[in-house]
Amino acid sequence: MVHCPYCHGWEIRGKRIGLLATGPMSAKQAMLFGQWTEHMCFFPNGLEFPDEQLQQLAALGIDVVPGQVQGVDVDDDRLAGVRLGDGVRHPLDALAVPAFTRARLEGLDDLGLELQTTPIGVAVLADESGHTSVPGVWAAGNVVNAGMQVSESAANGARVAMTINTELVFEKAKSAMAHSATTAQAARGGAQR
Ligand SMILES: Cc1cc2nc3c(=O)[nH]c(=O)nc-3n(C[C@H](O)[C@H](O)[C@H](O)COP(=O)(O)OP(=O)(O)OC[C@H]3O[C@@H](n4cnc5c(N)ncnc54)[C@H](O)[C@@H]3O)c2cc1C
Repeated sequence: MVHCPYCHGWEIRGKRIGLLATGPMSAKQAMLFGQWTEHMCFFPNGLEFPDEQLQQLAALGIDVVPGQVQGVDVDDDRLAGVRLGDGVRHPLDALAVPAFTRARLEGLDDLGLELQTTPIGVAVLADESGHTSVPGVWAAGNVVNAGMQVSESAANGARVAMTINTELVFEKAKSAMAHSATTAQAARGGAQR
């Protein structure tokens, strides 16, 4: 079972690929997986999709298979196909199941971070420099956008790390200036006494 055409597409190129709909983006995800094979099918699995998207799938040569998927069939530890409600097996070599992701925030609930829900999941709301809704808390990578690949997550992490460092140095400069002003004031007060 696979979930991303960019992560797993090459390994299943040319094979019989099915995509099991899990949400409103699924027809479009079937188009993306369809780039890898001429044997692509889409199982709406009871979900409704706009006519335009269904027509686009047909135009791309992607079979739309109606009905409910009741289960997957496995032969010799390999996916053999999916079983439809009428008991018919639809043979497949790979099944794509787009996942809905959730940022793992166990232990951080008390921070009260603002979250955002997108078609692919629930993530921490942060700007491009990593600022979250809570001052002093930054976030980067998949926790803010589950669609980021490794290189983007790493680049985002580097960018956010620079922001954190920069802001801490500027904050330190402000505190140091305030401290030296207080020290100078105290010294002046001492000299007057
Ligand atoms: C199945 C799969 C295949 C993928 N294939 C590709 C691919 O081929 N190419 C590609 O570019 N990208 C791929 N990706 C995406 C890639 O994995 C991510 O872009 C990348 O890992 C994001 O990095 P990250 O550091 O933001 O998050 P993660 O790599 O998820 O790192 C977060 C870390 O934090 C830890 N953690 C979470 N909660 C806590 C906590 N409360 N306390 C302490 N630690 C915690 C986790 O255990 C994890 O180690 C794939 C993703 C998946 C799921």
